[in-house]
Amino acid sequence: MKTIPRAKLETFLNNELKLSEFPKDESANGLQVEGAGTVNKIGLAVDACDYVFEAAAEKHIDFLIVHHGLIWGGIRSIHGIMKKRIKALLDADISLYACHLPLDCHPDYGNNAQLLNVLTIKRIGEFGEYHGKRIGYWGSLTKESSLKDFMGKVDRTLNTRSTALSFGKKVRKVGIVSGGGWSAIYDAEKTGIDTLLVGEPSHSAYTLAQEMKLNVVFAGHYATETLGVKAVGEMLKKRYALKTEFIDHPTGL
Ligand SMILES: [Zn+2]
Repeated sequence: MKTIPRAKLETFLNNELKLSEFPKDESANGLQVEGAGTVNKIGLAVDACDYVFEAAAEKHIDFLIVHHGLIWGGIRSIHGIMKKRIKALLDADISLYACHLPLDCHPDYGNNAQLLNVLTIKRIGEFGEYHGKRIGYWGSLTKESSLKDFMGKVDRTLNTRSTALSFGKKVRKVGIVSGGGWSAIYDAEKTGIDTLLVGEPSHSAYTLAQEMKLNVVFAGHYATETLGVKAVGEMLKKRYALKTEFIDHPTGL
């Protein structure tokens, strides 16, 4: 297995993940914490947290790519939990690289594109505008399905236990926005989608789904956001022959 200079990897990821297309993302996307100058092993995880940092250090990872980083907005202070987390990274010389919205909607590695693939939904278009970009994808099942069967497939594929608002008649045109993406419901209705699949449940979605006569499937924030970082890991393994490892830390939410 090969190594790569940290700065080269950082520049490659910034371009490949199209970070500059998301200037309004609250997440400070890109390199958040600078670690070792040479990268031997890359870790992939959904959430930046102590559990993941400890596991990364044990596994001799020196560059960690996460979907939810540590820095949202700007740094106002480094104390308490933030101090502990940043210290853990600096002590172990691990770089932290965050990629939030660009990794939800990336056409190849994105959570939403990957979810369509694993659920064998044929991609038709984009939808779900957020901060001026459409971050979701929608597509069609080859055969109309009942909501129960569709949820069974989602649960088996993503190893999750989804819940649903069942106000649509069928499942055929499915729109996907990972994580807390329920507000895409307005765009889902406009697009003619019958079933919206998102991560986190939302009380506010209930009456909207009821009045729009849509199904909304909540498959879990974590469960809908592991595929993007995993796809980035696979791409880096192929392109640079780098060692990679996914660190699983499910929240069940
Ligand atoms: Zn998320």
